[in-house]
Amino acid sequence: MQKTNRFSYLLSTRSWLLADGAMGSNLFDLGLVSGDAPELWNLIHPDRIASVHASFVEAGADIILTNSFGGTRYRLKLHEAQDRVAEINSAAARIARQVADACPRPVAVAGSMGPTGEIMEPIGTLTFEQARDAFAEQARALAAGGADVLWIETMSSREEVEAAVAGAAAAGLPVVCTLSFDTNGRTMMGLSPADFSQISQALSPRLAACGTNCGVGASEVVACIHNLAKAVDPGVILVAKANCGIPQYVDGAIRYNGTPELMAVYARMARDAGARIIGGCCGTTARHLKAMRDALEAGAAGPPPTLEDLTAQLGDVSAGARAQWGGELGRGAGSFSGAGAARGRGRRSSLG
Ligand SMILES: [Zn+2]
Repeated sequence: MQKTNRFSYLLSTRSWLLADGAMGSNLFDLGLVSGDAPELWNLIHPDRIASVHASFVEAGADIILTNSFGGTRYRLKLHEAQDRVAEINSAAARIARQVADACPRPVAVAGSMGPTGEIMEPIGTLTFEQARDAFAEQARALAAGGADVLWIETMSSREEVEAAVAGAAAAGLPVVCTLSFDTNGRTMMGLSPADFSQISQALSPRLAACGTNCGVGASEVVACIHNLAKAVDPGVILVAKANCGIPQYVDGAIRYNGTPELMAVYARMARDAGARIIGGCCGTTARHLKAMRDALEAGAAGPPPTLEDLTAQLGDVSAGARAQWGGELGRGAGSFSGAGAARGRGRRSSLG
């Protein structure tokens, strides 16, 4: 490597890092209409994308995610832009890079890569090779535009995680992957935090960090981090990026009910539970992010929260996450098949 990677440098010099808030929900406030492709705004409204990035950097973000979540050819096809993957993703990375480089402290640019939206074999029709190639196409463009790390997020299936990581490898940058555990302590496709830990051990290249994003609320994300921390080897870097509270329909639009105060408590608790990279997902604005930064800077990490502390301060968690917290990995822990229990994966909690 010609010089130290910014993301790796930040991790090696700091005990925790603040990731950013949500791009998508902030773009709605800037005029994005439901059904529009936010990724096309990298070309038609780069100034608006830059303004969201700048607000997060100003609030204290150490890592900003590019506006490229739906930037694979499969997602762009919905907007007839499947042949513009390189143009759109390299623009996304360039915009973030410019904002990051304008900041006097080091800020890493993470190339966001979300699901293709297709169902993969054997349940669906998208093959591993097709998915891997689509992710590789996106990853190369994000790297060309100046990304420091590739950031695979909101994943739910083992097959797509494996394809995305294999595709991201094409760019030769560190790779981070986070899953959305939004279905009773598991992903939509049935993976628990313990399952993800096991899958990640077989990935090549090894992930620079892994964790959870989006989902069903800040409390549930902290519980997921607790459950992941129990399952992974010591030294694995965990990422928490929770939605800003719970989504609610207000006047026909989705609003998130989290206050800056709630997100500040979440940030501290996520760190205490074992996360080294903490940020927000849907609904998280620069105001929330600033409160998170202040909370993290106000004191060092404390002991891991108890389940009682967590639910008292941030709200209840799902029955599945609660059972996993107690060391239960089978059907009671949100499994729809009992497969996790049958294979006897993961570690038992000392509380169990
Ligand atoms: Zn989200």
